[in-house]
Amino acid sequence: QPSGPAPQVEAVIDLDAVSHNVGVLRAHAGDAAVMVVVKADGYNHGAVEVSRAALAAGARELGVTTVAEAIELRAAGITAPVLCWLNTPDADYPAAIAADIEIGVPSVQHLRAVAAAAAGVGRPATVSIKVDTGLNRNGASPLEYPALLDELVAATRAGTVRLRAIFSHLAHADQPHSPVIDRQRDRFTAAVDAAKQRGLAPELVHLANSAATLTRPDLAFDLVRPGIAVYGLNPVPELGDFGLRPAMSLQTRVALVKRVAAGEGVSYGHEWIAPRDTVVALLPIGYADGVPRALGGRLQVLLGGVRRPNVGRICMDQLVVDLGPEHDEVAVGDTAVLFGSGAAGEPRAQDWADLLSTIHYEVVTGVRGRAVRRHR
Ligand code: PLP
Repeated sequence: QPSGPAPQVEAVIDLDAVSHNVGVLRAHAGDAAVMVVVKADGYNHGAVEVSRAALAAGARELGVTTVAEAIELRAAGITAPVLCWLNTPDADYPAAIAADIEIGVPSVQHLRAVAAAAAGVGRPATVSIKVDTGLNRNGASPLEYPALLDELVAATRAGTVRLRAIFSHLAHADQPHSPVIDRQRDRFTAAVDAAKQRGLAPELVHLANSAATLTRPDLAFDLVRPGIAVYGLNPVPELGDFGLRPAMSLQTRVALVKRVAAGEGVSYGHEWIAPRDTVVALLPIGYADGVPRALGGRLQVLLGGVRRPNVGRICMDQLVVDLGPEHDEVAVGDTAVLFGSGAAGEPRAQDWADLLSTIHYEVVTGVRGRAVRRHR
């Protein structure tokens, strides 16, 4: 147990919510296994803690971006299958192979680098082929996929690689009726067939992220790859409430309560002038901690059981909340919730995203600076 006072800024992570959300996703996945995506330190929720909770709740595999992220999971003693899918060809593939990490391969150049690393380590690399079916981001495009299959056949024969899976990623998963999804599905099944025709035998094929897992059960294939929904954030709120529970709550504690006279300007630039004698609370959190400055004057925080308005500009390390003339219920040290599950009336990451014209993915991954993570 750490001693001393609690941190001034905390990102509190509810691991029961993670377990619950994995249960929701498993129910939607049917017979397909669940790979929980824990890239970017578990979308900033703590990759190791989230992985443990998710695996205990029945997830079978883990997905990350880089070799380094995958090795961090192994270093924590996690033995479940881990796939990493976006690396430069000079990545530390020998370390990945030695740690039994599955390597996502999007090009001939990557496959050659992985095969060379496997030859050096003296054991075959486990690879998953990333095929681009229309996102046109990572993965082998249809123009390059045949050459990648040729190289894969050769490397398999040489014993340097073992094919685990073929996978792809959707461009319009949050629009389940989009014809682009069906076109990607058709290209995906054709890509899998092409591999099989060359004698390759992937153990698994997978395509669905969170949105597709929740809305397109026909795309579950052998495994689904949800990220954002694991953290309780609904990727398709307009299509229904799937019973997800947001896991992250951003909290701070009141550092100062003081009276301000009518007509006084508050914070840089005096963008807010007190319309009456009032009392304000100073919260020691700012844009360096991931509270966007663009929310100044529009942010609300839950403090003393009610939502209160931020007034004036949000600064690097602090922001001001107007308590009004009646202030008895708020004291220095009280907890202020900036966003959370919404269960107690606090704003949600989705509310911030709406105000900022962005997505909740960016809100939760943007929490940083002095914010100390606490799992409960
Ligand atoms: N699969 C891949 C290849 C990804 O890059 C991601 C994240 O963007 C996911 C799955 C998870 O997506 P989501 O968080 O939308 O569920």
